[in-house]
Amino acid sequence: MNTSLDHLGVAYEHFRPAGPFASLPLPGNRSSLVWTETREAATHYVAMSAQQLAHEIEMVMGSSLGTVKIVEKVQSFPLRMQIARDMVAPRLALIGDAAHVVHPIAGQGLNLGLKDVAALAEVVIEAMRLGMDHGGEDVLARYQSWRRLDTSAMAMVTDMMNRLFSNDVAPVRALRDLGLGLVDRAGPLKEAMIRNASGLTSTGPRLLLGQPI
Ligand SMILES: Cc1cc2nc3c(=O)[nH]c(=O)nc-3n(C[C@H](O)[C@H](O)[C@H](O)COP(=O)(O)OP(=O)(O)OC[C@H]3O[C@@H](n4cnc5c(N)ncnc54)[C@H](O)[C@@H]3O)c2cc1C
Repeated sequence: MNTSLDHLGVAYEHFRPAGPFASLPLPGNRSSLVWTETREAATHYVAMSAQQLAHEIEMVMGSSLGTVKIVEKVQSFPLRMQIARDMVAPRLALIGDAAHVVHPIAGQGLNLGLKDVAALAEVVIEAMRLGMDHGGEDVLARYQSWRRLDTSAMAMVTDMMNRLFSNDVAPVRALRDLGLGLVDRAGPLKEAMIRNASGLTSTGPRLLLGQPI
């Protein structure tokens, strides 16, 4: 979409009951819009004219980016957790969203991809140092087993968070708020969760710990 005001390189994300509504800056006054909705609502919005849809977007975004003009065809697709059955094949390794698609609710997709890159670089460079075939099956299998658990665990956590946050049943909401409040007050637990999500654990790839390979 084009906007009348400059985004100044800032991404805006609104957390709504159906999921994130985010504008992600592109070169010029263009932004990419990610709008998460229920299946019924998505069908309704996709059927709107570009002008009507632009108006709906302005209503959500307020005055942050001014008036909106839709410049590309609107597309919709189901948002679901996807994990590649195999992250490696002969002389091939998948990284980032090609290997795993997690719900954006926890903002962890890019972090997972960075961990993949750091882990792959580490196993490949170590193999080269040892004079091994750095694209060989053993080396790629090591990359896969290193990343598999973390990726699956994060995918499950984000999927659970999504179910929890999109649930409007009062007792579930109360339990969720209580849980979040407790984690927020439990300093060391919160710190450990942040360190784990950032890959800053003793088992994390060295590059993420700021160490040379
Ligand atoms: C609303 C939203 C908020 C998010 N917030 C966060 C956050 O706060 N923190 C976080 O860590 N993650 C976040 N993520 C997730 C993050 O954006 C993705 O996990 C990350 O961008 C994946 O990077 P990638 O390089 O693997 O894939 P992509 O960013 O999808 O890059 C793939 C590139 O390949 C190009 N491409 C595709 N097919 C072809 C082809 N055939 N030939 C040539 N090029 C091709 C695409 O155009 C694209 O540029 C968010 C995602 C969304 C949707």
